[in-house]
Order: sequence, then structure tokens, then C-alpha cells
Amino acid sequence: MTPKTAIITGAAQGIGRSIALRLATKGFQIGIADLEQQRGKAGEVINEIKKIYATDSLSAKGPLLPPVFYPVDVSDKSSVVEMVDAIASKFDNHLDVMINNAGIASISKLLDCTPEQLDKVMKINVGGVLNGIQAASKVFVKYNRNGSYEPYENGNKIVGKIINCCSIAGNEAFPILPLYSASKFAVKSLTQSAAKELAPLGITCNAYAPGIVLTKMWDHIDEEMHKVNGLPIGENLKKSIESIALKRGETPEDISGLVAFLAGDESDYITGQNISVDGGICYN
Ligand code: NAD
Repeated sequence: MTPKTAIITGAAQGIGRSIALRLATKGFQIGIADLEQQRGKAGEVINEIKKIYATDSLSAKGPLLPPVFYPVDVSDKSSVVEMVDAIASKFDNHLDVMINNAGIASISKLLDCTPEQLDKVMKINVGGVLNGIQAASKVFVKYNRNGSYEPYENGNKIVGKIINCCSIAGNEAFPILPLYSASKFAVKSLTQSAAKELAPLGITCNAYAPGIVLTKMWDHIDEEMHKVNGLPIGENLKKSIESIALKRGETPEDISGLVAFLAGDESDYITGQNISVDGGICYN
């Protein structure tokens, strides 16, 4: 059987890295898409994936093409189209799963938000997801439906899966994160529209909503919140963790299991959902 291929944006570190490694353990071929400046870190992830592929349980299943890195700025549509095409062709014209994970935080009191902040976070967090949905869908149709946009009569055949990164801030908006929250509400909305519009083509679209994840992004949020509300460094993170029912900060590995499920066959009948993995912060 041909191995499945997945592209993960923002996979040089943090949550994306964990998703790439988890999918590798499931036998996926992996395309890592991240900013050019992340090439070094992406190379480290590639080496980790190669070690996973060399384990007995995976090497026994048959050969996997080596992971690839392709530099991209997800806010630039043509660069995303080029990246998706290039990675699919490196995997012998295969693509099964597109994970639109890349995103940035934007920290500012609502009354102080600037047009530049609005532009930046919307272009990356919302535009990046839209660009990924469009580019991957075209490639799914080209290679997995022989170029046909004829709708399937029923939804039994899934030819591609899109998985977007939302957030708890996409379910309930947070103070000092108004633009970030708005961007993640938009990701949830795009996920629902894509699910409805792409279902006739056999493409599903879901999202994962992490909570307070202990990555570089939260180090940055904590530092910037300190500048806004004056709480000592580390205190904003500590207070946020206290709001979690399970009383610990989230790890990227807490999320990648759900994403692997959404990428696999067992989730074929799930589409349009935004699934929280937050240790119990948001309940909707
Ligand atoms: P991170 O900062 O550790 O990693 C983000 C990755 O995205 C980096 O590798 C970065 O280079 C890449 N990236 C940023 N802008 C890009 C662009 N324009 N084009 C291509 N790549 C770009 O953050 P993380 O915590 O791993 O976040 C990953 C996703 O999870 C983001 O969408 C974020 O909004 C979401 N999220 C994070 C948290 C959290 O608490 N950390 C919570 C909810 C949602």
C-alpha cells in the first residue's frame, strides 16, 4: 500500500514539530513547511523523523521517502501554492493530509491595537489557513481525483484531509489577545465553510483547539503581557495554568495524538469540527 503523505506548516518547532514526529511514527511521509529562517531547526526535525523511520516496526512495513523541508511564508498565496506542489511532487505526486498549523500571537489591549497588528495576524493566521486550504484542495483534486471536480454522490470516498490550527481563543475571546482571538474565530469559520464546500469532492476539514501550550509562543505571550499588565515574568503563564481543570500546562504531545487521529482513516466521518485539547478550560 502507498504510504500516506502529509504537509505540516510551522513544523520546525513547537506543536507542528510534535505533529510531524507523531505522524512519522504512524508511517506518514512528511513535508515540513516553515519560514526560511527555520531551516536549521527543520533539519533537526528531519533527522528525528529519519531515526523514527529506521525503527524496526516502521522499516518492516516498506520504504518511506525521506522527509523534506520547503521554505514558505504561509501569508503569501503563491509561495504556499508553490510549496504544496513541490512537496507533492517530491513524494511522487502524493498528498493526503494538509495541516495548517503555522500561526503567530498578537498581544495588545483592544483599545491599543494598531492597523499593522491587525493586518499581520490576519494575513498569517487567517490568510495562511485559507492559502493552505486552497492549495491542498487543488492538489487533492489533481492527483487523487484525476483532476475532476464532479461531486461524489455520497461521502464515502475521502480523497484528502485538511486540519487547521484553531485555539481556545477561537471558542472564547481573551482580553489582551483580541486580534489573536478574532483570527482564531475566523479559522473556525473557515474550517466550517471548507467542510461544507469541499465535502462533495471527498475532502474533510477539521480543526484542533489547543489551550495553554508550553512552547516558544507562550514565552512570547507571557513577556508581552508583562509589558501590558505589569505582572512579573512568568506570572501570566502561571495564572493561565491555574485556570486549567487538569492543573498543568499543555505539551505539544498532548495535541499531536488528536491530530494523528484526524489525519487517519478512523476519523473519515468527522468534518467541520473544532476539537478542543485544553485540559479543561473551554466548555462548548
Ligand atoms: P511556535 O511559535 O513555537 O511555532 C510556530 C511555528 O510557525 C514556527 O516554527 C514559526 O516559524 C512558524 N511560522 C510563523 N509564522 C509563519 C509564517 N508566516 N509562515 C510559515 N511559518 C510560520 O508556536 P506553537 O505554540 O507551536 O503554535 C503553533 C500553532 O498553535 C499556532 O497556530 C498557534 O496559534 C496555535 N496555538 C498555540 C497555543 C499555545 O499555547 N502555544 C495555543 C493555541 C493555539
